[in-house]
Amino acid sequence: MPAPRPHVLHEATYRQLLEHRPNVAVLPWGATEAHGWHLPHGTDVIEAMAIAEAAVERAVAKGSKAILLPAIPFGNNAQQQDQVATIHFSTTTALAILRDVTESLVRQGIDRLVLLNGHGGNAFAPLVRDVMLETGATIVVVNFWQLCPEVLRATFHDPGDHAGELETSLVLHLHGELVEMEQAGDGRTVPFAIEAISQPGVWTPRPWSQTHPDTGCGDPRQATREKGKAFFDAASDAVATMLVAFSQASKGQTPYV
Ligand SMILES: [Zn+2]
Repeated sequence: MPAPRPHVLHEATYRQLLEHRPNVAVLPWGATEAHGWHLPHGTDVIEAMAIAEAAVERAVAKGSKAILLPAIPFGNNAQQQDQVATIHFSTTTALAILRDVTESLVRQGIDRLVLLNGHGGNAFAPLVRDVMLETGATIVVVNFWQLCPEVLRATFHDPGDHAGELETSLVLHLHGELVEMEQAGDGRTVPFAIEAISQPGVWTPRPWSQTHPDTGCGDPRQATREKGKAFFDAASDAVATMLVAFSQASKGQTPYV
């Protein structure tokens, strides 16, 4: 049996934490929602948690004082409320959670927080601005699907936006037993009927079920476990490198001020 890891909060004993004394916390934050006909509803949580865990593991091995927090399982699913068992966290709920987590950590001497975001519908920027002002903490947001663009380009025909080649490859790598590849649709999207609302610089959220007939966005059918591993390793390394630098930063070294 492997020993409890002091850098994984769910496993660590109090004595281990007193010795490890983390100074940067990593909070995976996903959503639980339909991912095509072929991926689990937990896809965003699985991805965020796995990248965060691997990154913390690698960063701690290089001397970082990072700790992995348990994942927040629900996100903003305001435009999917017609889909069965889809829990929506409103922005005020997300703000309250982020504020409570950050305030608690700051009281205990942890003033650096990394949000490892797994869901495109979670828009953390305005929340982070407010909570940083209120708490004095420095909060960094990682949208994992935007990491390592050169690896994305070299690895995927088209990564896709949701349940496409990138996400399907990742879950094939991380939890292949949960992927029903033979059920996969083509991830085709339906453009807005009002074309003028699709032009650059104009935005409104997509009414998901109408614009995404199989709930996916991007074709998953060229996904492979190998592609998933290639991106997973690169993304975890990128986050680990950032964690090492963030954990070792001294106050005044921007943006840790
Ligand atoms: Zn997803």
